[in-house]
Amino acid sequence: MIALFILLAAAQRDPRVEALVQRIDASRMQATVKRLTEFGTRHTLSGTQGPGRGIVPARDWLREQFDAAARGSRLKPFEDRFVYQPDGKRVNVATEIVNVGVVLPGTDPRRAKQALMMTGHYDSMPSDIMDPKTDAPGAIDDASGTAMALELANAFRDEQPPISVYFVAVAGEEQGLLGSAHLAQRLKSEGIDVVAMTSVDIAGNSEGQDGVRDGTTARLFSEGALENETEPQRKLRLAVGNENDSPAREWARYIQRVGELYVTGLRLRVMLRRDRIARGSDHMSFAKEGFAAVRLSEARENYRGQHQTPRTENGVRYGDELWRFDANYAGRMCRALAAAFASLSAAPSAPQEVTLAGAVSPDAKLRWKLPDDPRIAAVVLYRRPADSVTWQEPLALGKVAEVVLPSVTTDDWFFAVATSDAAGNESIPQPPTAVGR
Ligand SMILES: [Zn+2]
Repeated sequence: MIALFILLAAAQRDPRVEALVQRIDASRMQATVKRLTEFGTRHTLSGTQGPGRGIVPARDWLREQFDAAARGSRLKPFEDRFVYQPDGKRVNVATEIVNVGVVLPGTDPRRAKQALMMTGHYDSMPSDIMDPKTDAPGAIDDASGTAMALELANAFRDEQPPISVYFVAVAGEEQGLLGSAHLAQRLKSEGIDVVAMTSVDIAGNSEGQDGVRDGTTARLFSEGALENETEPQRKLRLAVGNENDSPAREWARYIQRVGELYVTGLRLRVMLRRDRIARGSDHMSFAKEGFAAVRLSEARENYRGQHQTPRTENGVRYGDELWRFDANYAGRMCRALAAAFASLSAAPSAPQEVTLAGAVSPDAKLRWKLPDDPRIAAVVLYRRPADSVTWQEPLALGKVAEVVLPSVTTDDWFFAVATSDAAGNESIPQPPTAVGR
């Protein structure tokens, strides 16, 4: 074992990522959200309700926008289309559901099956979930996330990351996460390893129902304990208490760290729950398939704007209309996400088989395997006190596969290791998956 040489890893910005972040255009997002509200309703069962009204014209328009982003670029149009049969719940007629977007193909053939995924859902709903006719502008829920998918596609159009990146507008969210469930299952059946996924859902309203304005904070929701935990995973969790170190939680911390590194005026909160209480979004479809999936959402919701038919009652306005959308706030969230996707898609393969040793001893010892990836320039060790949420004091280690931390009690700290390329783009930090000696 080598001894530790302490070198605090300086937060390094990659000029390529900085340039990409600057391509995010809040005014174009505003125009996208406005256009999406003009389809009247985008209810999943609405089909075509009249000229330019309904989810079919809306998805045709989205297809054109994604195709325009792809034209003359490295992006390839992506579509996931299926017919969903009535389920006795929120779908009462056979319905074609279409997820539309683009994929940026990865350039490293050894990592051809690895991908990142970002989704927003373009379907909407009025007060009655089974009503496909009434106005449902869905500006915040979730034209905001849909606009980000389109904006990110445009920003990434000429990038050449080693792994693939999908930007997809999904449907059927309000009817039960139907589009994302199909998409996640499809990718899994195709053997695609979705290294990290983010659902952006309800991300553009900056005034809470309590009247408090906050356009500088956003929330990242992620599962702690795994939805489909295996018996060995359960045993490890009970042995080391890693319920706050799921792959999804590490991805949430990653977005927080990288987002705040590249974007000023935005604080990202790593929330220690899967979603808001008893609510959900498309990240849950990906978590169910075993992928690291998080939800990015605004800081302060206004429930009068969500799942409400537009109307005024006793002087109070209900409905998810365009006036609620704060494009500059949404733009900051989109930039943070762009930074995280740009950095992770460029990063080397992550360390494997991280083992923690040193229990019942004064020193912490970690070892791991470095994958065969010429992009690896260094390893970064993260740690945090066992009573805190986010990683602290990253240590730059050089290209090594083990470390000893003298006088660091394993019981009082959590650890993870990441690989980094020469420009400072890091893999998601990997916590120990084994306890050794
Ligand atoms: Zn939603």
